Amino acid sequence: MDQQLIQSALSYGRRFVRYGKPASYIPELASKDPSKLGVAVCDMEGNLLTAGDTEEKFTMQSISKLIALIIALEQNSYDDVFTKVGLEPTGDSFSSTVRLDHLTNNKPFNPMINAGAIAVTSTIRGASLEERRDVCLAFARKLMGNSGLDVDYEVFLSEARTGYKNRAIIYLMRSNGIIEGSCEEHLELYFLLCSLACTCRDLSMFAATLANDGISPSTGERLIPLRTVKLVRSLMVTCGMYDYSGEFAATVGMPSKSGVGGGIISCPIGRYGICVYGPALDEKGNSTGGLKMLEYLSENMDLNMF
Ligand code: GLU
Repeated sequence: MDQQLIQSALSYGRRFVRYGKPASYIPELASKDPSKLGVAVCDMEGNLLTAGDTEEKFTMQSISKLIALIIALEQNSYDDVFTKVGLEPTGDSFSSTVRLDHLTNNKPFNPMINAGAIAVTSTIRGASLEERRDVCLAFARKLMGNSGLDVDYEVFLSEARTGYKNRAIIYLMRSNGIIEGSCEEHLELYFLLCSLACTCRDLSMFAATLANDGISPSTGERLIPLRTVKLVRSLMVTCGMYDYSGEFAATVGMPSKSGVGGGIISCPIGRYGICVYGPALDEKGNSTGGLKMLEYLSENMDLNMF
């Protein structure tokens, strides 16, 4: 990978920015500048290449579902977590409720949709909500090698005030016995995680640790157990790109996770940690320019795992 290639990926991605628009169901996200676009690539030695708007901060949104799952699996047994959530893709949109009220199987299909991530978040332990938040924040800071990483409280409040669909989801799961304890506290923790503000550089470090089997390429420290990394990467392939996951796997072929803040991370195994950012989204919630940059990098660097 060299600077020229990253720059070409950026120029290619720019041509597709105009086909998308920022998410508006979270009011604070609607005001983001749709023309922003950036890419950061971290190799397995921790070297970083960047192009475009890589200093721009954006919220992780659904990319944080990976972090919630990693923490939940650190604190609980696999059985405890996976009695509350499955491992199957849905083909539905990320906030869909249609499969949540099935007579015999009402657990959410996987940890990458909102219902599944909320169920996973409910298993994150701590004596208080503050303690649970601090555990998550400390781990996210470590994963990204950024001790200044914090919550964007404007986005958090915007979502907490308007997150009616997520409230419907959690209360439905509460009535079906999936959720225990305070729904409002679990939701607050979920919204806090979604509102973590980071840059392409931060997230490329996280992605590089996933690509490097859980060991940080910059410090050499193991941050995630290998078994968890394998599980997380498999979910990224099958469910990471919303209801575009199948087509993305077939055409781009990299474990990836998208968020409605405009970020997407990819972790071609043993190769690179990649983060692209562009708040202009397509109708499924994926960054239009970001998708095209990933397509370009996969093709030109032979990163398709299949
Ligand atoms: N905070 C967002 C929500 O719950 C995350 C959605 C996403 O990025 O897919 O609706």
